[in-house]
Amino acid sequence: EWDRIKKRLRAELGEDVFNSWFARVDLESIADGAAHLSVPTRFLKNWLQNRYRDRLLALFKEEFEGARQIEFTVRSAIRPRTPGAAVGAEPYDGPTLDPRPVAQAPQPLKVQREAVFAEVRTDDALYGSPLDPRYSFDTFVEGRSNSLALAAARRVADSRPGEAVGFNPLYLHAAVGLGKTHLLQAIARAAKEQGRRVLYLTAEHFMYRFVAALKSQTAIAFKDGLRGIDLLLIDDMQFLQGKQVQQEFCHTLNSLIDGARQVVVAGDRPPVELETLDERVRSRLGGGLLIELHAPDLDLRRRIVSGRIAAARRSYAALAVSDAVIDYVAENVTSSGRDLDGAVNRLVAHNQLTGEPISVEMAETALRDLLRVREAKRVKIEDIQRIVCKQYNVSKADLLSSRRTRTVVRPRQIAMYLSKTLTPRSLPEIGRRFGNRDHTTVLHAVRKIEDMIKTDRAFQDEVDGLKRQIDL
Ligand code: ADP
Ligand code: MG
Repeated sequence: EWDRIKKRLRAELGEDVFNSWFARVDLESIADGAAHLSVPTRFLKNWLQNRYRDRLLALFKEEFEGARQIEFTVRSAIRPRTPGAAVGAEPYDGPTLDPRPVAQAPQPLKVQREAVFAEVRTDDALYGSPLDPRYSFDTFVEGRSNSLALAAARRVADSRPGEAVGFNPLYLHAAVGLGKTHLLQAIARAAKEQGRRVLYLTAEHFMYRFVAALKSQTAIAFKDGLRGIDLLLIDDMQFLQGKQVQQEFCHTLNSLIDGARQVVVAGDRPPVELETLDERVRSRLGGGLLIELHAPDLDLRRRIVSGRIAAARRSYAALAVSDAVIDYVAENVTSSGRDLDGAVNRLVAHNQLTGEPISVEMAETALRDLLRVREAKRVKIEDIQRIVCKQYNVSKADLLSSRRTRTVVRPRQIAMYLSKTLTPRSLPEIGRRFGNRDHTTVLHAVRKIEDMIKTDRAFQDEVDGLKRQIDL
């Protein structure tokens, strides 16, 4: 029935609009008259809620008896929906305890940002996505994992219009929370201050703007606007969907680059791995300078935490945090800048709400669930093997053996595939854990299962079922 609803929407809205807004919507469950739909980003959630809720509800009422309401949730970033599909770059914002719930507190930034999204103007062709005032070069902390990206970003920011910097486009990629958006916005801010015509847009926003321009028949103005700028920055490239939108993006890219205007793009993976992206866009993006930002090492984490505390002190002058606490956070929160932010926010909120001084003991309590959640979510290869063995009734010895009977080969491939998609382990390491196999064997298994998922709906459901069991 959900497939039928999607089919109808596709027919009603046209391929491009459908792909832009509905291709990444999943029906999670339908219970007690409520349909739960999940989407990868908050932007999409708000968008669908504001524009399509009524239509969706009407369709659900027709297809599912007793359907009365629709609820949207944002999918978590760690659980990829399908292998290789765009995975949310935004969903995890850390704990939502804002350190400023107190009277004089300024509005949380997230809220402001959404307000802007809600009333995007379509007449002004050069209206970009909102910039977060905290993201500047001054607040970006340099470390080994990001120094190359930072140097390239500074070069771009300092270049003059019409003067290519030797690498165009600049493409930054990294997992969530490692500073891509921060750097892009720092460039945008600095270049703006020098009076350059800068446009910073998330890929989703680009999509929205383009589709809206098509609808209001201002597409030409939109295109002209795009081509008249000095510096284009596109964030979260993995979300650019829809054939027509991608074509338009490709034209923009070509005309800017050929005109020696700088383009900077950020995504959660290198261009070759953006499977849903048009081949031409991919190769054009891959033709510039690619830089990966890596996870921060201990030293950088420590300095990011110190920086955050210094910033918080601007609101709470009396805030006292010892080096021991900074070390504790830096050693325990190891994943990303975003999580470090979340941790500091917690400590400050805890301190402001309870009056308890920030000590290591207090940090242990305040961050306990944050750290435990992270711990619990770390999927282990053993768990995958155990669950797959149980599901297909094969022994672990057989799974790891060199037996090549069908009944063993397929579960083995599935387990390898799940290990690749649900854990951060590399192909060689997965190979070792599966009876010392070569990494090409693992790669072959991953590809095979991906293909099967794409072509066989029942098989896809089967694999999704396994994922749910593993990902509890
Ligand atoms: P991404 O876009 O790669 O997902 P963001 O740029 O949104 O990551 O970074 C997540 C958070 O971590 C932001 O608040 C950002 O300011 C912070 N952050 C990440 N790296 C650094 C860094 N090197 N220095 C200071 N803050 C950082
Ligand atoms: Mg980002």
